[in-house]
Amino acid sequence: MYDFIVVGAGPAGSQCAFKLGSMGYRVLQLEEHRSVGKPVECTGVISRRVLSMAKTDSIVNRVHGAHIYFPSGKSIHVSKNEETIIIDRERFDQDVSAAAIEKGVELKVNSLFMDAQVHDDNITVRFRKDGNIIEEKALALVGADGAGSSVRRVLYPNQKVKRMVSSYQVEATVKMKDQDSVDVYLGSAYSRGFFGWAAPAGDLSRIGTAGFGMSRELFLNIFRKFLDPSKLSINGGLIPIHALDRTYGERSVLVGDAGGIVKPLTGGGIYTGMLSGEIAAEALHMAYGKENFSSGTMAVYQRMWKKAIGKELSRDLKIQKLFAKITDTSLNEMERTISVPTILNKINNAGDIDFPSKVVLGILIKKPSLIKHILFPVKEPS
Ligand SMILES: Cc1cc2nc3c(=O)[nH]c(=O)nc-3n(C[C@H](O)[C@H](O)[C@H](O)COP(=O)(O)OP(=O)(O)OC[C@H]3O[C@@H](n4cnc5c(N)ncnc54)[C@H](O)[C@@H]3O)c2cc1C
Repeated sequence: MYDFIVVGAGPAGSQCAFKLGSMGYRVLQLEEHRSVGKPVECTGVISRRVLSMAKTDSIVNRVHGAHIYFPSGKSIHVSKNEETIIIDRERFDQDVSAAAIEKGVELKVNSLFMDAQVHDDNITVRFRKDGNIIEEKALALVGADGAGSSVRRVLYPNQKVKRMVSSYQVEATVKMKDQDSVDVYLGSAYSRGFFGWAAPAGDLSRIGTAGFGMSRELFLNIFRKFLDPSKLSINGGLIPIHALDRTYGERSVLVGDAGGIVKPLTGGGIYTGMLSGEIAAEALHMAYGKENFSSGTMAVYQRMWKKAIGKELSRDLKIQKLFAKITDTSLNEMERTISVPTILNKINNAGDIDFPSKVVLGILIKKPSLIKHILFPVKEPS
């Protein structure tokens, strides 16, 4: 019998396993793929905060700014002193996982979680490995199995992710001229209610878009002008941008994408996933001390992650819902309003990719006239 079983070896699961292993618990971690970190479905843009959580050699670039392109074709450039880091995501996942293994976590790859049953004194987990069905028991289970979580489906059948964007991305052999800035593309030519992006990663660039009701065809249409579609290998996936109402249950918790714990404004989930993984480990440690893994005891996990990032996620969500309705005409008007030194200075250095609402609210306070474009977007001429 294990103390804990963690399903999924992405950043959220491995960070949780690392913390549990560091506390001396006997941890089994299951990963459906043959190796950790594959396939990559991520741009790999993280803050320094993430680097303070995990040792990694996966950095491929550091940037200090962003070119933000509006539907009119005009752009603004914002910059900050603090760097934003671009990582090789496969390597990063492997580094976080290696740290967990070093702490004694038993990782089983090629192991697909199938179902779990909660009993009075344990949770029994069934998974498929090399064609065999294996059963293991633990005191509690951590669902860290990403956006399409099977743990969520099995143990939280009434919990649905209420808001998701679909994303498409390519890693192209295109060297971006400005290696110190990411590109952000706003407007209906690039996305439906979200945004497109290009991130410089040395000789390569990661070019993608996300939005509501996006399709592969639309993605190709958008990027045909930059890239030769026949040479592209497209990745991507669903990004949950609305946390579940309940991320805990009897003898279980959901962390990272499995719980929808992702920044709604940017779709970034590495920091929030790892943070929720760490908090889950603390909550499980407390439950172990009380010898009580009831739903009531596990609720402390949600209270703790909400205290740490809940306000930011709910502010982000409100802003994202309004942003999704802004028309191209209003976006262009906003560009004209903010392209003045007083506002650009406000944006410069204020940005924090883990707490993006701060910069948005800061601009709105400085320029309240922008609020009307957000609340009452100008209709597009028909
Ligand atoms: C195109 C794209 C670009 C993105 N760019 C960024 C970015 O730049 N910065 C950022 O912060 N975030 C980004 N994100 C979001 C980020 O990738 C996720 O939020 C992050 O990976 C969540 O980590 P996780 O550990 O919760 O889940 P995941 O990384 O999805 O890990 C889940 C793991 O569980 C495994 N698994 C799944 N089902 C099972 C099962 N049944 N049994 C066993 N194992 C299973 C999977 O194989 C996987 O290894 C992007 C997402 C997309 C789609």
